[in-house]
Amino acid sequence: MTSVIYLGQDAEYASTPMVELNYIKEFRARVVETGPNYAVLDRTAFYAEGGGQPSDTGQMHWEAGTARVSKVVKQGGIVRHLVDTVPPKGDVTGSVDWERRYAHMRMHTAQHLLSGLVFQMYGARTMGNQLYMDYSHVDFAPASFTQENLAAVEKAFNEAVESGVQVTIYEEERRVLEERIEEERAIMDLIPKGIRRLRVVQIGDVDLCPCAGTHVRNVSEIGRMRILRRRSKGKDIDRITYELL
Ligand SMILES: [Zn+2]
Repeated sequence: MTSVIYLGQDAEYASTPMVELNYIKEFRARVVETGPNYAVLDRTAFYAEGGGQPSDTGQMHWEAGTARVSKVVKQGGIVRHLVDTVPPKGDVTGSVDWERRYAHMRMHTAQHLLSGLVFQMYGARTMGNQLYMDYSHVDFAPASFTQENLAAVEKAFNEAVESGVQVTIYEEERRVLEERIEEERAIMDLIPKGIRRLRVVQIGDVDLCPCAGTHVRNVSEIGRMRILRRRSKGKDIDRITYELL
């Protein structure tokens, strides 16, 4: 099992607040396994695609060479870095393409804020989401939003951004969270029963949701949000597409 730095699984970063781990752009690691087009490290700050957030890209450097990391995937708990040149076993420095990662962090925290507000205002549950660098979408149900609804959500969102609500990330016992998180906000049933402690992302008193993605430390970093469109994706399901300005 590799340790994942941004999740706080690595001893060196044990005392670093979890939200700060998302800002690690460069890290040292050891190559412990390689395949025809991938490398596994003993620890990593690269985000593996999942939860609607695309994987990071970046570079891996070692004494005699450099590799481009084009994608990062997690299979059976193992994080594989897909590379154009396979590094030798030994020490490497990884560096994350920061512009791409930071765009995903802003989009991801924006998604939680949007999901939290829509749940508070209209009681609609988040059914799925897909993040990109320049726009993202979230599916809500039951939902059939009017133009006025969307304008109200956008306004509440941008007010939260202006007030600079803090984001914190921590681990909590599952049974505690099952009492604190309203059933309709997060689909806790989808998380395997064997997982007793969960990583949660809290946005002030606006939202609390289990998540393994990367996030900004304050919603002020998101900037203003604009809803681009609403599309019906079937009975009672509305997809909201948004961008950040
Ligand atoms: Zn999330």
